[in-house]
Amino acid sequence: MKPRNIKILQRRGKDLQANILNAHTIIVASTTGSSANHVVTVEYEPDGVIRARCTCAWAINGGIACSHVIAALEKLAETKGRTLSFWDERSDAERQKHRIFYLTGGRRQTEPGVWITSRQAA
Ligand SMILES: [Zn+2]
Repeated sequence: MKPRNIKILQRRGKDLQANILNAHTIIVASTTGSSANHVVTVEYEPDGVIRARCTCAWAINGGIACSHVIAALEKLAETKGRTLSFWDERSDAERQKHRIFYLTGGRRQTEPGVWITSRQAA
């Protein structure tokens, strides 16, 4: 299950506060609402595959790239002086001519994922 509009989620992710516990665990909280914190866990696989899980309902039901995961990955990238963009299609990602990652969920490998490009932060 992929988000319907990854660009809207990408913007929403910027409104979330992400706190890195360690390289694989990020706590994500809303800066506006009083909704619960979510825990995002990130695993890196060879060939640029990122496997991320989140405790929100969307992710638990097999959803990929919720706003919490996006916020967590952005935060991790920020610590390396990078900024991320998220794409539905591989061809859109490749057009950016930046380093490419593939984001998928925790459990179901067959679920279609989301493409990520990473570039130097301005
Ligand atoms: Zn989530």
